[in-house]
Amino acid sequence: APLLVAIDGPAGSGKSSVSREAAGRLGFGILDTGAAYRALAWAALQAGVDLDDDGAVLALLESWGFTITMRGEQWVTVTLPAAEGVVPSDPVDVTAAIREPSISGQVSRVSKHPEVRERLNAMFRRIVAESGLPGVVIEGRDITTVVAPDAPVRILMTASPEVRAQRRAGELPGLSHEQVLADIVARDAKDAQVVDFFNPAPGVTLVDTSELDFEQSVGAVIDIVRT
Ligand code: C5P
Repeated sequence: APLLVAIDGPAGSGKSSVSREAAGRLGFGILDTGAAYRALAWAALQAGVDLDDDGAVLALLESWGFTITMRGEQWVTVTLPAAEGVVPSDPVDVTAAIREPSISGQVSRVSKHPEVRERLNAMFRRIVAESGLPGVVIEGRDITTVVAPDAPVRILMTASPEVRAQRRAGELPGLSHEQVLADIVARDAKDAQVVDFFNPAPGVTLVDTSELDFEQSVGAVIDIVRT
């Protein structure tokens, strides 16, 4: 089985970019679980499914034509279920579409459903087990606590809301710092009702990146993995 490095944290903590770089340097794979929730929200919006309807979202997830394929953050494809008697659609590359602020604003509506989370968690564990890689960095909100609580390395990455908004604003030209800060705080508040990703569970190492640059953050993760 691959060596698991579980990393949780809120939006803008540096989690995604730092995880990706650290995984690359370690020769490990990277599984961005947030991308799966985003792809599911995207698909539900496309399919006209009510995002608040847990049964309908679950049905979409369980339908025979729905698959999500991930290669790090670079390549995410979704195949939507076919309507009855219709040939399934070709895979759609949603890598860029799922990063749109419109998806960020809606994704909490699908991630709040417990059974949806269970289905996706099973998928994450299967992807890791079948990866054939020496190690996998898996990042999200509940990896250290729910998806892989037994991972030998567990990290909670945090940063102050202002720093997180600053980083996100850099990725989202056209949006003001105030708007990005308000969006992040609102999304965190919704997500935190489902899982606590602000306080490290017992045994989880806290890495506060507020005062660290990218290189120092990557170094901190690699140091933890190597000790
Ligand atoms: O990490 P990212 O910001 O891309 O995550 C997008 C959304 O997916 C989060 O706002 C949250 O609603 C959901 N998510 C989750 N559990 C995870 C990863 C992401 O609920 N493990």
